[in-house]
Amino acid sequence: MDLLAGNGETPHKGVSHFSLSDNDIQYEESDMIIYRCLKTACHELCHVFGLTHCPYYECLMNGSNLLEEADRKPFLLCPICLRKAAVYHNFDDKITQRYIQILENIVRMQNSSFESEQQTITLIIESLEANGFGG
Ligand SMILES: [Zn+2]
Ligand SMILES: [Zn+2]
Repeated sequence: MDLLAGNGETPHKGVSHFSLSDNDIQYEESDMIIYRCLKTACHELCHVFGLTHCPYYECLMNGSNLLEEADRKPFLLCPICLRKAAVYHNFDDKITQRYIQILENIVRMQNSSFESEQQTITLIIESLEANGFGG
């Protein structure tokens, strides 16, 4: 049974849905359940905001039909999808601020499933700031 399924590419533009459908959720799995829910919700919201599936890199916007495929994709947009989103929604000059806000939210959640993203985003912020994109 699929634990999590989403569909942001419905015939109705700007509409997305996802559902949590598993009766065997264990309490100790809750960090991973929340992680998967948020990853699916962010993927679907990116569809709503105009992004299509990504064929370029490992990316939050990779398509997936199985839970294993969904788990393999990162919780971050690749450079191409990030650029598309930034241009579509006019935050191209706020990339570093966006990563800082994402990192603050990850830290606030205290969810062990986000450890990899926390490390990756910290490195991205350091790299952006070292290259003069600190604003
Ligand atoms: Zn999708
Ligand atoms: Zn991408």
